[in-house]
Amino acid sequence: MKILLNNTLSKKKEEFRPIKKGQVGLYTCGPTVYSYPHLGNLRAYIVWDVLKRFLDSEGLKVKHIMNLTDVGHLTSDADSGEDKLEKAAKKEGKNAWEIADFFIQVFKDNLKELNILPPSKFVRATKTIKEQIKFVQILEKKGFLYQTSDGLYFDTSKISDYGKLANIQNIDLQEGARVEKNKEKKNITDFAVWKFSPLDFQRDMEWNSPWGKGFPGWHLECSVMSQMYLGDTFDIHTGGVDHLPIHHPNEMAQSEAATGKLQAHYWMHNEFLKFKDGKMSKSAGTTFDLTDLEKKNISPLAFRYFVLQAHYRKSLNFSWEALEAAQTGLVNIVRDITGRKLGKKVNQKYLEKFQKSLSDDLNTPQALAVLQELLADDQIEDGEKMATIYKMDEILGLDLKNLVKKSLTFSNEEKNLLKQRQVARVNKDWNLSDQLRDQLKEIGIEVEDTKDGQKATRVNL
Ligand code: AMP
Ligand code: ZN
Repeated sequence: MKILLNNTLSKKKEEFRPIKKGQVGLYTCGPTVYSYPHLGNLRAYIVWDVLKRFLDSEGLKVKHIMNLTDVGHLTSDADSGEDKLEKAAKKEGKNAWEIADFFIQVFKDNLKELNILPPSKFVRATKTIKEQIKFVQILEKKGFLYQTSDGLYFDTSKISDYGKLANIQNIDLQEGARVEKNKEKKNITDFAVWKFSPLDFQRDMEWNSPWGKGFPGWHLECSVMSQMYLGDTFDIHTGGVDHLPIHHPNEMAQSEAATGKLQAHYWMHNEFLKFKDGKMSKSAGTTFDLTDLEKKNISPLAFRYFVLQAHYRKSLNFSWEALEAAQTGLVNIVRDITGRKLGKKVNQKYLEKFQKSLSDDLNTPQALAVLQELLADDQIEDGEKMATIYKMDEILGLDLKNLVKKSLTFSNEEKNLLKQRQVARVNKDWNLSDQLRDQLKEIGIEVEDTKDGQKATRVNL
């Protein structure tokens, strides 16, 4: 099937043509592991998970690389401020290595809860320091760098089309005020590839290099890892729109300077998850994470469903009401399919319509509408309907098979209540039966009286 993807680089939807037939090299900028990933971050990883699953379902073998930023990301996103990990470590009374280990595990656990497939390889920035130093040496040899009192900088004026991804020259000039001015920089867009350790305190993470003790600039890791695992030029590079003004132009500039080749053919960016129309961001204190969902009894999969209801290039407003509505929507799907027999034959008409939606730049809201249309179609026999829905879910990743299983699994205590209600009905004790129905509802189980008897479904996912 012809797959159209919106390419930020060419600023249009383009047919996806892999470099090597049947294979895709995919790079996703990973998290900075200094705190709990917020729901905005997780939106990004859900979207790229669907992209990967979709490409895979189209018969393409996807090699997916994701970095884990455990060093070098400074609080300004540019080259000023503290290292986010060192700052978190200080605050928690731990060292940066402990912070990194802890939040890498949290991130991996979050992915599992959201049914996001892990990449082919996770790579920690601190595991590639040797390669990063070598990369800087190449840039230095080619004459792209200059030294200041705090580090080694990339001279962006040496790249004729610097910022081509988002025409950032204008954005950056406007935003210059936001970033603390570094008077030693030759151009406002120049960025550090290697920072020197401060003289007044010892960092937890620092390495010797030909330029002195220090640590790599934030953008370097992605250039190095993508080259190590996917080659000089690979197929698709993904990340959030916040990477458009700084991180991606810099990553691209240094990669292309080092190799003389285009780094990636397709660049894809997800829009923000917003809270009250502002970006959900850790630094602004307007973030929620999976632990907040748990407190409100909202399943991570309901959040996944919520994310898929919007197109990835549209910003999405977060509210508890919207999330609760998404949870109800998902529960309704689960209730609808629970108890239906599963066949083998997939309905091609619906499946093709579903795939066609996704092949139009990953139109997940439309794909979900096709799933709903199929659910409501009485002409399709149960077995075929279920086989098709599960096939669709291989891409959506709502984990419907498991949710159905879960909705039919009861604890002994719950089984006991259900049994008591059955007995009450046999005894025509309608008061007791109603009372038990309410009691069951309170613990998240709904009962329906059908001609075949009482049918119970768990409705809290
Ligand atoms: P970070 O941990 O800050 O490096 O971000 C991890 C990923 O989340 C990156 O791809 C960001 O572009 C993305 N991201 C950050 N904030 C948001 C947001 N509010 N909505 C969607 N994606 C975001
Ligand atoms: Zn990156």
